Amino acid sequence: MDEFEIIRSYFCRQVADPQLKIGIGDDCAVFNPGSGHIAVTTDTLVEGVHFFSDADPEAVGFKSLAVNVSDLAAMGAVPKYFTLALTIPEYNSRFLEKFSHGLFRMASSCGISLIGGDTTHGPLSITITAIGTTKPGMEITRSGARPGDEIYVSGELGGAALAVFLKSNATHLTDPLLESDSFMKLDYPQPRVELGCSLAGVASSMLDLSDGLSSDLMHILEQSATGAHIELEQIPYSRSLFELDLFNRINFAVSGGDDYELCFTVPPEKRNALKEIAEKLGISVTRIGTVTADRGEITYTLNGIPFDIKTRGYNHFAK
Ligand code: ADP
Ligand code: MG
Repeated sequence: MDEFEIIRSYFCRQVADPQLKIGIGDDCAVFNPGSGHIAVTTDTLVEGVHFFSDADPEAVGFKSLAVNVSDLAAMGAVPKYFTLALTIPEYNSRFLEKFSHGLFRMASSCGISLIGGDTTHGPLSITITAIGTTKPGMEITRSGARPGDEIYVSGELGGAALAVFLKSNATHLTDPLLESDSFMKLDYPQPRVELGCSLAGVASSMLDLSDGLSSDLMHILEQSATGAHIELEQIPYSRSLFELDLFNRINFAVSGGDDYELCFTVPPEKRNALKEIAEKLGISVTRIGTVTADRGEITYTLNGIPFDIKTRGYNHFAK
């Protein structure tokens, strides 16, 4: 199979969208941007770096798009289009079948359409550029947090990090374990599109959690010139962490990555508006702390007692 047959067989799908003037097949895709602003993001996933070499190709396809859509969600942008630059070591129908299935499953779940790309030969890597739209001026940046704002996260934290740990350290992974919540979270993250798009005018700043709360939150603090106080007892720990001791639970949830939940700040007077949005969408959001004036500093307490996240770090991950 050559490049063009691969594109035709696995990636050309009919897109019913009057704004899309030219899709896959020409030198460029062309769309009418309408009246909104355009939000653009790119993420690359490399075999052995971002996913395990034995990862299910369906999960790889799903997740490559999910992480990009999560960036759109974190800006409050509505997903519209994406391009796919795919590098594969050889033609492999099983891989392409499963990869494209996972990719389009993610795409249809959030209404985003593949409009172009590039297909090349080389070590397996996937680069996706995702395009979304925002209402002008309603983008939710990392720079709007103010002292006194409340800090929230969606969903639960730490499940994906536990799965990464088990994959790297456990000698025998049983099927029930591989199908457990934490592995689903690692392989099939669900970007919080509806929540992200509903928070315009409510959240003062927002980002998605990819590297872990303790490091991702720093981006908001640096760009907002603020600090944060996190109450560790308030963190919505993933159910999959309940058998661990408290220190490991905290480490997975606070220092572990790959959750693709949203972390955002809300001025206290908008607390009720947030509650209504979360209830309407049926998504749990949990207040975990408060924005402070201590530029670039995060302080952690556990039931009011100071807790040092850095020194307890990853060393405490134990079986
Ligand atoms: P070019 O010669 O401009 O590089 P290509 O020959 O690489 O174009 O691609 C032909 C068409 O197929 C283009 O419209 C391109 O956007 C699209 N395309 C290539 N690879 C993919 C892919 N993996 N997924 C979707 N569309 C693709
Ligand atoms: Mg090309």
